[in-house]
Amino acid sequence: MNQEISFIQREALKEKPATDSLGFGKYFTDYMLVMDYHSENGWYNPRITPYEALTLEPSAMVFHYGQAIFEGMKAYRTADGTAQLFRPEKNMKRLNDTCDRMCIPQIDEDFLLSAIKQLIFTEKDWIPQGEGTSLYIRPFIIATEAYLGVRPAKEYKLFVILSPSGAYYGSQLNPVKIYVEEQYVRAVIGGVGHVKNAGNYAASLKAQEKADRLGYAQILWLDAKENKYVEEVGSMNIFFKINGEVVTPKLTGSILPGVTRDSVIQLLKHWNIPVREERISIEEVFAAHERGELEEVFGAGTAAVISPVGELTWNDKTIVINDNQIGHLSQDIYDEMTGIQLGKKEDPFNWTV
Ligand code: PMP
Repeated sequence: MNQEISFIQREALKEKPATDSLGFGKYFTDYMLVMDYHSENGWYNPRITPYEALTLEPSAMVFHYGQAIFEGMKAYRTADGTAQLFRPEKNMKRLNDTCDRMCIPQIDEDFLLSAIKQLIFTEKDWIPQGEGTSLYIRPFIIATEAYLGVRPAKEYKLFVILSPSGAYYGSQLNPVKIYVEEQYVRAVIGGVGHVKNAGNYAASLKAQEKADRLGYAQILWLDAKENKYVEEVGSMNIFFKINGEVVTPKLTGSILPGVTRDSVIQLLKHWNIPVREERISIEEVFAAHERGELEEVFGAGTAAVISPVGELTWNDKTIVINDNQIGHLSQDIYDEMTGIQLGKKEDPFNWTV
């Protein structure tokens, strides 16, 4: 796709919020990227346009049959003021994988990435400055065709909106309490759990509500078939350090292939720390704890980068991991990844753009 991106200027720019009030996902920048799709034209009319409310027909197919998908990534401001992206081509690829599963037409990944860069350049003053802060980037696609028959839509809109976000953690990583969910499941093999389909997140809310009510931060999801194997933690991938070796569930088709997950695996290999991708049962996790071999457990995802697990509750049994302290490996990975993202550490993997 070789199209000019048009620019529609807004009358007045918004006031930018103070960095310490940012939180997550509350504020949106002045502009967004929009692109249309029609089955007769393909993707067309890419434009950077004022962030504003949308007009859609009530019969737009997204409201009825749920063709809605998204991505999540961040731009960081480095010490010398330049904006950096972290492995953005992985997010472009995953967006297309999600399109494929949800019968949404493919996007030109290189074109979209260059358009996102242009949007970020336009909005560079919105990238917050300060430890742990970033500009969150949310590409998403919805089916806009006005039609009530069940089939893939013939019209779509792609948007990229930007939201300045604050530090996930205060001064340091914070081990959290996790609840192993046995009643509800997140995803099934053959389903849509391996892609970023909006409905996956709606389906997870009930269990998250239950975890909140019981006083836990997040859910640990088990596989849907046997209710036995560990899948993910909240909306993060999970890692266990057992007797000096790191294990993470292998991608069986119901687990989201996280960019952070892949980066952690590469980093561990680079450090010569043994890491295996394989199915691991919740029984095995509790047995490793019993043997005194469960050294660390942590989640990995774009939002928090690394989130140590301090307590794990399965049925009526609770185990405390590493004395509820931040593990050395969790801290080292966090420091290395955030160091690379912020341009403070060397990037031997060429991850930053
Ligand atoms: N699992 C799920 C279900 C997620 O939504 C996310 C966030 N995209 C992740 C894992 C972590 O993926 P990433 O490292 O690409 O943010």
